[in-house]
Amino acid sequence: MSTGVSATTRITAAALEDIKAHGVRTFPDECCGALIAVDGVVVDAFELPNTTASGAARRFQIGPRDYRAAEARASELKGALAGFYHSHPNHPARPSIHDLEQAWPNFSYVIISVNAAVPGDITCWFLKDDRSAFEQGELTCHTES
Ligand SMILES: [Zn+2]
Repeated sequence: MSTGVSATTRITAAALEDIKAHGVRTFPDECCGALIAVDGVVVDAFELPNTTASGAARRFQIGPRDYRAAEARASELKGALAGFYHSHPNHPARPSIHDLEQAWPNFSYVIISVNAAVPGDITCWFLKDDRSAFEQGELTCHTES
């Protein structure tokens, strides 16, 4: 059944490459950033500092300042904040309980698995309307014309 939330996230190859490169660069720590969409396509992976106090290798957190920076970036590009990405160093690209607790509705959450500094699976998730769980969405690469 459709929830009204688009289950597909379209992303440019360039933005996808930026997410991979960011995950490799911060390995073995997690990286995180914002997904900025223009006309329904994520065109920009906007890097955010991983500010969590409990160890960047373990979990990511988007603080209010990050959120504002992401919104500013979106308006700079005349786009919209579509969601967030982060990496799972040496872990599968599946959301953790912590990820679920941190998630907001109507955003796309992209997770990249980075194993031994090599980018692996990239998955995309949406929070269910009742916020009880994530549902896996589809990440499709949008070819720029
Ligand atoms: Zn996570």
